[in-house]
Amino acid sequence: MNTQTNFDMVLFGATGDLAMRKLLPCLYQAHVAGLLHPEGRILGVSRSELDGAGFLAKVESNAKIHIKQNFSDSQWASFIKRIDYLTVDVTRAEHFEALGEKVKARRQTENVVVYLSTAPKFFAQACENLAKVGLNADNVRVVLEKPLGTDLQSSQQINTDVAKYFKEEQIYRIDHYLGKESLQNLLALRFANIMFEPLWNNKYIASVQLTIAEQLGVEERGEFYDITGALRDMVQNHLMQMLCMTAMERPASLDADAVRDEKVKVIKSLKPLTVESVNENVIRGQYTAAEGMNGYLQETDVPAGSFTETYVAIKAEIENERWAGVPFYLRTGKRMAGKVAEIVLNFRDLDSHIFDGSQTAPNRLVIELQPSESVRLYTQVKTPGAGNNVEPTALSVDMGKEIPGRRQEAYERLLLDVINGKLALFNRRDELEAAWEYVMPILENWAENTQAPHGYPAHSWGPEAARELLARDGNRWHEEQ
Ligand code: NAP
Repeated sequence: MNTQTNFDMVLFGATGDLAMRKLLPCLYQAHVAGLLHPEGRILGVSRSELDGAGFLAKVESNAKIHIKQNFSDSQWASFIKRIDYLTVDVTRAEHFEALGEKVKARRQTENVVVYLSTAPKFFAQACENLAKVGLNADNVRVVLEKPLGTDLQSSQQINTDVAKYFKEEQIYRIDHYLGKESLQNLLALRFANIMFEPLWNNKYIASVQLTIAEQLGVEERGEFYDITGALRDMVQNHLMQMLCMTAMERPASLDADAVRDEKVKVIKSLKPLTVESVNENVIRGQYTAAEGMNGYLQETDVPAGSFTETYVAIKAEIENERWAGVPFYLRTGKRMAGKVAEIVLNFRDLDSHIFDGSQTAPNRLVIELQPSESVRLYTQVKTPGAGNNVEPTALSVDMGKEIPGRRQEAYERLLLDVINGKLALFNRRDELEAAWEYVMPILENWAENTQAPHGYPAHSWGPEAARELLARDGNRWHEEQ
């Protein structure tokens, strides 16, 4: 893909962690790969009173260190020529006048991207002030960082506020999981091959597991994490997107709305949870001290006795023809035994066996999104020698090795898509709100529930209760299979 669309990117929160660690390094990679229009400009914006040179000094010290590949002094020198800076306090309408002037002064600009990498509490005011200076015209796109709200109501409020000034097709709601090559590859696996789709249903699949496990703990981010928790941080957005991509019907095309229509249908087909059914189907966990590591409650800035979950497991059901009766187990956690994001499809067993049964195990397809990008299909092969034994063996493809080539980081892909006006990998309002609607009974149950989260030792695979959640259906988590 070669993008040569001219652009002005107004980067709010330019002095912040996300801009320095991800956004600017990803724009640098796009620059080196020749994917940015030569005239494309990046205008850093934040509250700090800096001039262009002062901001560049920050970029030198805070962003450059995050460029892990393709660095050269000459490329860096040409990249930073794109960068300028303006002090704009979101809460001060008068600051936007200079911003409007600066952007409009560039007559050749084809489109303007306003990236709001700031706290969501600023979104409404930023959009209102942008509109006052005409920076909501049809050639302007606005990117909203997560979290988009903390519950259904606050999410609806943000969406309603932003919609006063921007049309839906101008709004790019980021979920960086959607920018991951491996998640997009899932659609190719399903819809560009003949052999998977016919089996991709309740006739052949017994259960599905979706996992995002982190080994890191909360560490210094206790203050942020304690008011967020794993459900808001990972389930409502990333796990829900993985679920949609796994379970959706084939879209009519890869056009943004065709894909997003199918994803919304999945979320709306989920069997709604109730405050009562949460007790049966959702496990709230919290890591405890082990192997010399702190438990969650010992982490810096975590309030004593906090019930905030660092682990969630959910048994979800999709009430449509394709998936009726197939449990979808979703889980995410911090301080787990491994760092992995994967989708596991457990196929049904054969009706009868002619090979020696004690060693037969149903087929299993494992799609690993990270750390490696791979697909493993566990099949039965005959054990060499006399006898009729079979044993599970993985047919395995490691995309990184088999299909060499530069892998774009999720944020690079997404930034380029915004510049090029491609909405497919961004959340639509109805999709996001449907996901909030699904998790709301969990939040409501937990707000009332006086039972402490289930403990699990740091660097384990989660609480015993999550094991029981699957055992009840005769199932086991992937690492135990
Ligand atoms: P951060 O490090 O705290 O930076 C916040 C930025 O907002 C700074 O540039 C700050 O400017 C600016 N800002 C604060 N008040 C402002 C105001 N009144 N007017 C204009 N600018 C203002 O935050 P961050 O980690 O970069 O995160 C930014 C957003 O992305 C947040 O919504 C966060 O939840 C989301 N996010 C972050 C990450 C991540 O890895 N960091 C990942 C996913 C999502 P000054 O420094 O000049 O005050």
